[in-house]
Amino acid sequence: MKMRFNTEDAFEQRIERSIQENVSLASYNTFRFDYSAEYFAIAETLDALRELLVWAKQNQKMVTMIGGGSNLLISADVTGLVIINRLSGINARELPGNLISVTVAAGENWHQVVEYSVEQEWYGIENLALIPGTAGAAPVQNIGAYGVEIKDVLARVQVINRNTGDVYWVNGRDCGFTYRDSHFKGQWKDLLFITSVELSLKKQSELLLSYGGLSERIDGKPNLRSVFNTVCNVRNEKLPSPAVLANSGSFFKNPIVSQNQHTELKQHFPNLVSFPFNGGFKLAAGWLIDQAGWKGVHYQGVGVYEKQALVLVNYSETNAIALLDLEAQIKHSVFEKYGVLLEREPVQLPLASELVK
Ligand SMILES: Cc1cc2nc3c(=O)[nH]c(=O)nc-3n(C[C@H](O)[C@H](O)[C@H](O)COP(=O)(O)OP(=O)(O)OC[C@H]3O[C@@H](n4cnc5c(N)ncnc54)[C@H](O)[C@@H]3O)c2cc1C
Repeated sequence: MKMRFNTEDAFEQRIERSIQENVSLASYNTFRFDYSAEYFAIAETLDALRELLVWAKQNQKMVTMIGGGSNLLISADVTGLVIINRLSGINARELPGNLISVTVAAGENWHQVVEYSVEQEWYGIENLALIPGTAGAAPVQNIGAYGVEIKDVLARVQVINRNTGDVYWVNGRDCGFTYRDSHFKGQWKDLLFITSVELSLKKQSELLLSYGGLSERIDGKPNLRSVFNTVCNVRNEKLPSPAVLANSGSFFKNPIVSQNQHTELKQHFPNLVSFPFNGGFKLAAGWLIDQAGWKGVHYQGVGVYEKQALVLVNYSETNAIALLDLEAQIKHSVFEKYGVLLEREPVQLPLASELVK
């Protein structure tokens, strides 16, 4: 007798086992806001991810991918399917010359990737130590710290197209990287999901110490380990760990202004903290907020972190209402004082404009 192999049934059963309904996202975002996902699944393999996308397409459900939830502002229940990316694995390949190619699955913890690279004596991402979240989300806002952005070392990203299920590589230079931005936050949002990143690291010493006072803090001749340790120490001193105090890091981007606006601002505020950037100037948003009197302010169950005014923290709220209110007050007061509009850094979920694609 011939055995009947019904792949459709097997697919349905696997999907039924992996998707849950109405799941709280409180432990999947570092603000710890307690909104829920209509449908929820954790993807540990590319095949599982592919099947989840097929299910979402068949059932006309929107898909939202979350990594570590450290750059999210969830402000309502999320309709459709929320997928937590836990794809794992790291592979390294020596290239001729000074280069080493490191391929990292999207669900790997970014800081652990940095730590591993430092252990292997691979140079290039040590300044990006202790940034929370996953390797796959790192290109989404082109993470940056201490003069380095991921675009500087990103050879290419592997993506899956949510409509077709195709998996392919996109060169880093085609991802539209700018300051805290990329096509993954814009035209590719919720269409292309990152499944892997390929970093191009160096085997010989190349350290960047000119930002954030790194060189002054290192005793003796700097090396890979001492730079990594210093970055970790400085960050631990001024940023709250989300494990201790709920937050999403910098809540606002540093605003970019023209030369003329900068000159005018400098006349009124001689101590203005700013850096030349792309023909204009980048202003330190933390300084603007601090000088507008917000540092350390508590508002309902949220507040502005006492050591760094750029970071908004959640002490006790289960929803985002107070935080959105505080954000609006800060933006208004900074605009009134400096004529500068602050832009939010974390991604808000869900967006009013989100429709089933
Ligand atoms: C204490 C603290 C310090 C921080 N410091 C820095 C810093 O110095 N520099 C910096 O740049 N950022 C910083 N951040 C912000 C944050 O850590 C980074 O943006 C990080 O890359 C987010 O990763 P995540 O996995 O948590 O992403 P999530 O918060 O889960 O997702 C962020 C966005 O990316 C999308 N996304 C997630 N995974 C994928 C994927 N695989 N494919 C496509 N889209 C995806 C999500 O849908 C969402 O829109 C900090 C955050 C905190 C809490």
